[in-house]
Amino acid sequence: MKILVINCGSSSLKYQLFDMKDESVMAKGIVERIKLDGSFLKHEPAGGDKVEIKAEITDHQIALKMVLEALTHPEYGVIKDLSEISAVGHRVVHAGEKFSGSVKITEEVMDALKECIDLAPLHNPPNIMGIEATKELMPDVPMVGVFDTAFHQTMPEYAFLYGLPYELYKKYGIRRYGFHGTSHKYVSLRAAAILNRPIQELKIVTCHLGNGSSIAAVKGGKSIDTSMGFTPLEGLVMGTRCGDIDPAIVFFIMEKEKMTAAEINNFLNKKCGVLGISNVSSDFRDIEEAAARGNYRAQLALDIFAYNVKKYIGAYAAAMGGIDAVVFTAGIGENSSSMRKKICDGLEFLGIKIDPEKNNTRGREIDVSSETAKVRVLVIPTNEELMIARETMALVK
Ligand code: AMP
Repeated sequence: MKILVINCGSSSLKYQLFDMKDESVMAKGIVERIKLDGSFLKHEPAGGDKVEIKAEITDHQIALKMVLEALTHPEYGVIKDLSEISAVGHRVVHAGEKFSGSVKITEEVMDALKECIDLAPLHNPPNIMGIEATKELMPDVPMVGVFDTAFHQTMPEYAFLYGLPYELYKKYGIRRYGFHGTSHKYVSLRAAAILNRPIQELKIVTCHLGNGSSIAAVKGGKSIDTSMGFTPLEGLVMGTRCGDIDPAIVFFIMEKEKMTAAEINNFLNKKCGVLGISNVSSDFRDIEEAAARGNYRAQLALDIFAYNVKKYIGAYAAAMGGIDAVVFTAGIGENSSSMRKKICDGLEFLGIKIDPEKNNTRGREIDVSSETAKVRVLVIPTNEELMIARETMALVK
């Protein structure tokens, strides 16, 4: 069974075609700058050379049409005919409280996703556009929606509600939803497989540390708490997002800097986090380099980030009544051995202890904890696309 996975952003469309026989990637690529000058498709067939095709790409349907042409192209295509694609899995950011798992896309599902636009005004519209474009071009192929929020729908009410009037939850759906759910689910399942234990008996803290970062407490395979909230702005200090702050600061900055609601929203999402603290970059590689050269604010950004993550690990150990494993994933979690060490240093009281030699690695699955440690510390590269392909296959089979 061949499954196409699609992830539509406002000006981009990423795709991967999987052969589910062995879960191999037959081809992958990205269309960038949709609706902008200089748009192009980068297509990478497995074992073949990358191809870049420049064209005027004025909407997502044209983008998808180019992707389908590339996949079936006589030279750099990987399938003869589109009929070889059995199903399409779409990444969708926000399903509100409507779905606690992946679903086959129907008219009712589309209506439900449109109702969620208020909750994710930047993300859901391009996701919906991607689904509509696929429906137009491949009308008979079943489609599945896999949601970033779904995995966290198992959080209990006392974990997902804020200290706001309950009526606002009922009226507007103001609550913690959490994001990166597909990644937290994938790495927690992998962790159980690596540890060779049933996930039902495990307490795992999954740390998805990338440009956007979030942590989840996964107890018995279910998310019981997570650091991102109503939006992805809450939680950890991130590349450019501020994470947890006193909400009164918002009004203070608005008044002092004469910002509108839209301006402060943009500011807190794009100009804060480790970028704002360091004034160096939002990229941890640049910050680590600057800190090594003695840049005080770069070092401070790293210290603040590590301290944040450490506090959440402690909090989630308390929330779950113990901890069996900590998983590091995404750009920083998979690649930065120094950040993993900084986070874990001082957590020996919880049973967390890293082996410095094993930890000196990047980008591969490995248990980096010292042999005597009670808690396993695992590095697991995330694979959201494969998770989407698996969920899609399970629903259409
Ligand atoms: P992601 O959002 O998962 O793609 O992660 C992107 C982030 O990972 C980048 O902004 C970098 O900060 C970080 N990253 C990637 N490689 C490294 C590395 N070798 N060392 C430190 N940070 C890294």
